[in-house]
Amino acid sequence: MEKGYKKKKKWNFNGNEEVNGSTSTISVRGVYNKLTENIKKEDKRGVVRLCRADPTDFFKTTNHASHAIAQALHSFHFNCYSPSGGLPKARRAVADYLSSDLPYKLPPENIFITSGCTGAINIIITVLACHGANILLPRPGYPQYESRAAFCRLQVRHFDLLPEKGWEVDLDSIEALADENTVAMVLINPSNPCGNVFSYQHLQKVAETARKLGIFVISDEVYAHITFGSKPFVPMGVFASIVPVITLGSLSKRWVVPGWRLGWIATCDPDEILQHMEIVTNIRNYLDISCSSPTIVQAALPQILAKTNDDFYTKNLDIMRETVNIFYDRCKDIPCLTCSHKPEGTMVVMVQINFSQIEGIADDVDFCTMLAKEESVILLPGVTVGLKNWIRITFAVDPCELEEGLSRIKAFGLRHAKKLS
Ligand SMILES: *Cc1c(COP(=O)(O)O)cnc(C)c1O
Repeated sequence: MEKGYKKKKKWNFNGNEEVNGSTSTISVRGVYNKLTENIKKEDKRGVVRLCRADPTDFFKTTNHASHAIAQALHSFHFNCYSPSGGLPKARRAVADYLSSDLPYKLPPENIFITSGCTGAINIIITVLACHGANILLPRPGYPQYESRAAFCRLQVRHFDLLPEKGWEVDLDSIEALADENTVAMVLINPSNPCGNVFSYQHLQKVAETARKLGIFVISDEVYAHITFGSKPFVPMGVFASIVPVITLGSLSKRWVVPGWRLGWIATCDPDEILQHMEIVTNIRNYLDISCSSPTIVQAALPQILAKTNDDFYTKNLDIMRETVNIFYDRCKDIPCLTCSHKPEGTMVVMVQINFSQIEGIADDVDFCTMLAKEESVILLPGVTVGLKNWIRITFAVDPCELEEGLSRIKAFGLRHAKKLS
């Protein structure tokens, strides 16, 4: 009787299209989980994960950061709710940290502490989603922007990053896309998923283009200072006198603590233009109804930002430079993949699949699914970041693991090589 009742009863809930639609195709975690289902348990070699940029498998944060957290915890002073914008001392710490790279001083009131950079993205996209508005996003890009925009029904338009120009922004396409309802554009620098670092000159051109169009720039700098090529990292906030900039960042990548959920929004706005657009009021109001970053982590933040030893950063960058070199050299030996631009920053790189070299593989998703099944290697299909038939590879892993992964990819490509007729 109980069973029959369950079958017959029709419940009113039918699922949320925005949630279901966005997680399976345009979320890194969703795609990762799906690909992982293809791993064969009997493969004794183990899984090589080059899909997500979670560096904690190989890189460890500093003892110093852990002690700062322990101290905050043991004080019993930070078991409370956080104020909406974050603890005042945490906001001041981020303001000081960011100001050291800027030609002006950011006041603490311009900083909002968020639950990771993901929290910062969710807040900013939600605030921008006014009726009829649209936003310009890079392609390829970081899918959280698309997912959240779909959620809030904010219209998205994509401009291209050009592989043949070292992934520079196609500035002409920005001008063609923008209209009077375009509110902002997003730039990710250093660039996830491309691994390039934008030059000072190019950023200045982006700022001038945005100014001309009357849109401000959201600069996702979650990989700030994670650079190991010839170009230094330049914060977009340097150009805030040309165009207002909203900078997003977090502890997750540089300090290797993505589980700590501490990020920030910084309004770089020396001329108080954002203030007049009421963006800042909107952010403040939205923070009152969103989830704060853990108070304990906020309390530890000033120590983490001010006292992390330069050796820690340098050592990690040296390792990443080494893994990038391994990746770039080995990749030249894999006929089914082409890397057009050696990464200069971040933890990830885009490579193109050469379908002229292989057969029996339909597209990037097929490539990644078969690779997971046959070789227990997980890569991210390019379609997830907006570029079909490319692949995103994470290189910030144990060098031995990277070598192992690349040799399995090579074997996979040879096994599926096009037969000469
Ligand atoms: C990792 C990442 C984020 C998310 O950062 P969290 O602090 O872990 O939420 C945001 N943007 C980009 C480009 C990222 O690579």
